[in-house]
Amino acid sequence: MDLDTREWQRRDASHHLHPFTDHQQLRDKGARIITRGEGVYLIDSEGRRILDGMAGLWCVNMGYGREELIAAAERQMRELPYYNLFFQTAHPPAIELAGLLAEVTPPGFNQVFFTGSGSECNDTVLRMVRHYWACQGKPERQVIISRRNAYHGSTVAGASLGGMRGMHEQGSLPIPGIVHIDQPYHFGEGQGMSPHEFGVARARQLEQKLLELGPDKVAAFIGEPIQGAGGVIIPPESYWPEVQRICDHYGILLIADEVICGFGRTGSWFGCDTFGIRPDFMCLAKGITSGYVPLGAVMVSDRVAGVIERGGEFAHGFTYSGHPVSCAVAIANIRLMQKESIVKRVHDRIAPYLQRRWAELSALPIVGETRGKGMVAALEIVQDKHSKTRFPATAHAGLTCREFCFDNGLVMRAVGDTMIISPPLVITETEVDNLVDLARRSLELTAERLLV
Ligand SMILES: *Cc1c(COP(=O)(O)O)cnc(C)c1O
Repeated sequence: MDLDTREWQRRDASHHLHPFTDHQQLRDKGARIITRGEGVYLIDSEGRRILDGMAGLWCVNMGYGREELIAAAERQMRELPYYNLFFQTAHPPAIELAGLLAEVTPPGFNQVFFTGSGSECNDTVLRMVRHYWACQGKPERQVIISRRNAYHGSTVAGASLGGMRGMHEQGSLPIPGIVHIDQPYHFGEGQGMSPHEFGVARARQLEQKLLELGPDKVAAFIGEPIQGAGGVIIPPESYWPEVQRICDHYGILLIADEVICGFGRTGSWFGCDTFGIRPDFMCLAKGITSGYVPLGAVMVSDRVAGVIERGGEFAHGFTYSGHPVSCAVAIANIRLMQKESIVKRVHDRIAPYLQRRWAELSALPIVGETRGKGMVAALEIVQDKHSKTRFPATAHAGLTCREFCFDNGLVMRAVGDTMIISPPLVITETEVDNLVDLARRSLELTAERLLV
């Protein structure tokens, strides 16, 4: 079917409810119809090439159109398109991927529970954490502590663990037993403290909350090594070591939501490697298959797995847990990452280049800060550079900039007035130059529009 753009938009508006979308607005404007992907570029229904600065939704790490992944899916579909893992059965792709994940994740992770998405990973973790404590004879350890403005997915448990106010307001969330402390967002909430002091102060909120609730009531702490959807919030160096110390001291479990950070995004295989975190659980999705097919995986540490394995039946699982096609693509994706030494390339070459070029944008009058780590980066749009004053909300500075980006052929996302990028890991230096040039031009147009 090869329709023109207007017809695609009309049909889309007639029958399709989109995720995280105001449909009134979308109908007035019409959806952008993306028809193809090539390397780091998208092609839309008008034939325009758009540099995908977000790697889809933080996931197309190895780029679009990789033959190795396509061939793996096709081969597996012919061989065994589906079977489940519930009733004492298994299949080769799930078995092989479990071993491969044990190999690439940090020492102490040798067991994996498969899911279909990042949200399902967090649902799984919530249940597994409470089950773990029940098996230990401490069923009263129920509470999971998270952070405001965290993102842990959109299922009921995922959105509850997350700290997005807009999501909590719809559907009476969070569910009981989940509490939130403040995030380590220095630019937005630093209150004149040095990054070091601020990082420690925000980590100590975990200890205060633990003492307030009673440490024997708390099951776990969950956090993204770098908050992604919340606006690429990179914690000060002092933050994670202090969180780790507190978790160790009070014996609570530590959950690292690596759905974005995992598979090379931060310049190491996992965000935990980058920040020296030693978690009990790691939630993986997105980059595990470069987004080609849906898959999630919860890595369970030896200490927890030992208890779960002795705890009788863990009454949990999904029809698509360890779907054979998803596992086959994940295996091909990880093998391709290894073959191309992509993590080393990111760490040694392309991330330093991206970060150096990105930091040049901090000279622009409407940029209050640039920051980044590995292959994620953010910048803060401000009205006044020196006082770091924001534009009034009615100016919609972030959305204005995002629209200019799209018009100029770049996908850059806006979280409020924070602009964020997370390009494919395979991006080249020339493509980084292109990305930064397009971002600069869009920021200049935004400044012209808003600083009248
Ligand atoms: C995207 C994301 C999720 C949710 O993953 P889905 O596959 O959309 O369910 C969970 N945690 C983090 C950190 C994410 O970025």
